[in-house]
Amino acid sequence: MSFIAVDIGATKIRVASGNRGGIDEKIVETTDRANGPNGVPTQIIRMIRRLEDSPRAIGVGSIGPLDLGKGMITNTPNYPFNEIPVVEPLREEFAVTVRIANDCTAGVLGEHVYGAGRGVYNLFYLTFSTGLGGGAMVDGHLLVGKDGNAVEVGHLTIHPDSEVLCGCGCPGHWEAYCGGMNIPRFARTILRRGNWQGGLLAELCSGDAEAITAEKIFDAANRGDEAALHVVDEVGRINAVGVADIVNAFDPELITIGGSVALNNPELILKPIQRHVARHAINRLPEIRITPLGGDVVLYGALALALKAE
Ligand SMILES: [Zn+2]
Repeated sequence: MSFIAVDIGATKIRVASGNRGGIDEKIVETTDRANGPNGVPTQIIRMIRRLEDSPRAIGVGSIGPLDLGKGMITNTPNYPFNEIPVVEPLREEFAVTVRIANDCTAGVLGEHVYGAGRGVYNLFYLTFSTGLGGGAMVDGHLLVGKDGNAVEVGHLTIHPDSEVLCGCGCPGHWEAYCGGMNIPRFARTILRRGNWQGGLLAELCSGDAEAITAEKIFDAANRGDEAALHVVDEVGRINAVGVADIVNAFDPELITIGGSVALNNPELILKPIQRHVARHAINRLPEIRITPLGGDVVLYGALALALKAE
């Protein structure tokens, strides 16, 4: 009998079986968005059964927002329905304890138990993917919040009077500039201030600012394009403000960074943060590094949650 870990993402669901030593087997599927709110739990149950018919306990790391009291995902902008039940359907199906946490909260726990944060009790996990999120452990306590939505750092306000709206509707949030989905819009604003034509980025976009993607920016920056490097540094300056806010608020010893944008472009994300963070931080700076657990950090956290449940 194994423990089961589930990572519910906007586009992918990952399920793994494992034990104290780590993950044994893992399967990944595209999230079922076509069968209403019950499509997701049904898919998860089917995936779990492929690995284990009698799990000892189940841990879930999930996109938010969560309603921990109900064990549900609620009002998420990522799905076309309002509430997705998670805990109850799994508990009914397998008759075991099911524990759920926000994905980045699970991430920081995964880092603490299996990753770079072993033996570290003041730890922060930060993810850069389509959106931006964080999880915090302070003095060995996992910060959860009343509904399970503590540490939503992607929605820290950088510019209160900004005309740049976040996906959540608020002006000037960190994620509105530096979430993978929003980087192209921010890039267009930066590039409009100067002449970016003639370089590699312009070539990759055939001179059309609307064709800019985060991938093209990082690709051009990796190959030394000046305009792209300028955008990457501006993104990094805002990231440094956000990271400094984290340092000032949580006083971590270690910040690990994950998420597809950071994992695909580790140097281009990390270096500007390290270059600019001191300017905005009053607390002693922590070590800042990319997570060694890669794309499985949330899954490791979910496994740690399952182990805690027994
Ligand atoms: Zn927001």
